[in-house]
Amino acid sequence: SSLEDFLDQSIRTIPDYPKPGVQFRDITTLLGNARAFRRAIDELVHPYAGLKVDKVAGIEARGFILGGAMAHQLSSGFVPIRKKGKLPHETVRVAYSLEYGVDEMEMHRDAVKPGERVILVDDLIATGGTAEGAVKLLTQMGADIVAACFVIDLPELGGRKKLEALGVQVNTLIA
Ligand code: IMP
Repeated sequence: SSLEDFLDQSIRTIPDYPKPGVQFRDITTLLGNARAFRRAIDELVHPYAGLKVDKVAGIEARGFILGGAMAHQLSSGFVPIRKKGKLPHETVRVAYSLEYGVDEMEMHRDAVKPGERVILVDDLIATGGTAEGAVKLLTQMGADIVAACFVIDLPELGGRKKLEALGVQVNTLIA
């Protein structure tokens, strides 16, 4: 679509970052473009217009920027999901798989109450390992995950299918 093209053109690709062979999709240029940022947020929240959404959960760090703007537009709360050791209160923690090895992410135990309706957001889904970890944290605390959304999908890496297999609806802007 022309909107997809417009947003795609606002994102730059950095070759060989952070290591040789990787084409890094850098959304800082989208964030710095006022029209592109507004259109991206409008499009990200569009599927949930008129639905009850209690919280938007954003994955550190780019998910915070998108999720904060989405939460404001949806009049919902915001929940940060962070790398381990960053959150000050009692947390739930989960290990998640990276391309090489594993890491751990955390969420405050009191961030989501059982039955609360939550949307998960990050800038990009690749293998889906990161988002799967976030889904586990939210589910563990009894959240009702309305959907997971991303600006960019790299479909050949299978992340969308992984989340859909967990019963999570996935919405993306650029594939
Ligand atoms: P996954 O866990 O393999 O789905 O990788 C997704 C996570 O890695 C997200 O938190 C993304 O922000 C990050 N990521 C992976 N590749 C890129 C990229 O090309 N640009 C920006 N972020 C990326």
